[in-house]
Amino acid sequence: MINSINRRSFIQKTAYTLSGIALANSLLAFEANPEYVDAPLFDVIIVGGSYSGLSAALALGRSLRKVLVIDSGTPCNTPAPHSHNFLTQDGKVPQEIAHIAKQDILKYPSISWLDDQVTHAELKGNETIIETANGKKVRGRRILFATGLKDIMPDLDGYSACWGKSILHCPYCHGYEFKGKKIGIMGDGNTAFHYALLVKNYGASLQIFTQDSSKLEKVQRDALGRNGIEIIESTVKKLQHKDGWLEAVQLENGRTVHLDALYNRPLFEQHCKVPVHLGCELTAQGLLKTDPNQQTSLKGIYACGDNSSFRSIPVAVATGSTAGAAINIDLAIEDF
Ligand SMILES: Cc1cc2nc3c(=O)[nH]c(=O)nc-3n(C[C@H](O)[C@H](O)[C@H](O)COP(=O)(O)OP(=O)(O)OC[C@H]3O[C@@H](n4cnc5c(N)ncnc54)[C@H](O)[C@@H]3O)c2cc1C
Repeated sequence: MINSINRRSFIQKTAYTLSGIALANSLLAFEANPEYVDAPLFDVIIVGGSYSGLSAALALGRSLRKVLVIDSGTPCNTPAPHSHNFLTQDGKVPQEIAHIAKQDILKYPSISWLDDQVTHAELKGNETIIETANGKKVRGRRILFATGLKDIMPDLDGYSACWGKSILHCPYCHGYEFKGKKIGIMGDGNTAFHYALLVKNYGASLQIFTQDSSKLEKVQRDALGRNGIEIIESTVKKLQHKDGWLEAVQLENGRTVHLDALYNRPLFEQHCKVPVHLGCELTAQGLLKTDPNQQTSLKGIYACGDNSSFRSIPVAVATGSTAGAAINIDLAIEDF
């Protein structure tokens, strides 16, 4: 009888704050905190449950850490029909890779999952209070932002429809699929030259669209000329495509150039502004500054994946794994 009453009151106490959280672990700690007494405490809250966050969760779940992953479900590679250059998963649909990874981590009973968006974080002594769009409040001893980047689509007719399908940002990810095709580069200066170096090997024809009079240096122009790469100094005003598959670019000067794919790197921003509002520093490129352990400029706040490093799934997984191990040792030292 006593046991059943205790059990009931425990369930009542937890039901309010935990509704909506898929709890794999029922042993949540409710440590006293005057303002957030009902907010459950986790060893680690991972914000972002895509490749980098899932990789960190795996290391932490295998270390018996009490982890909550909160994910809003919009990874950056959603427009891409297939993903490449990640060993064992080459050519898979991006969502399928993430699905397999999520199944892997939810096998570990100390890992919980919440479909929600983190909107606010606040440091309170040794803990960070996290708030979500659906009104949940949770506390973490360590926070890991695995929140990725958001690409900003330029105001160019056809661009967003082609992005991820036939507008490419990375030759390693999608260059092979367009080998021997008619390829363009929309860009100028060192960025365009760097793309030309990498992409020339794939293309039967390669043209650079500099949008305006080119900033390429003479030595670069000469090298491009030697390699048969045309520089077209006119603004691209429209992309002709069928269901996102590029057919031609229309230029300001009236010319239409037939193309199968276009390399371009759009501007980006941090997908989640919470770490910056919390006080984490950014690099000049707009990435979160991290040390070799993936810790940001704030103690106890970590970052991994695209928000702080080179954009690729293998790197996201590597930095996530590094962050998971670094957070685990950080907690181990504190508790020992
Ligand atoms: C079009 C395109 C194609 C690509 N193709 C390839 C490829 O073929 N091969 C390859 O290796 N790489 C590819 N990449 C790069 C690769 O997708 C990224 O490097 C990888 O997705 C980074 O993983 P991540 O976990 O850091 O971030 P993401 O995968 O972007 O995931 C971030 C996660 O955090 C969540 N999130 C953000 N803010 C919040 C918040 N406030 N609260 C809760 N959750 C939040 C998001 O919803 C998302 O689920 C491609 C990228 C793009 C844009």
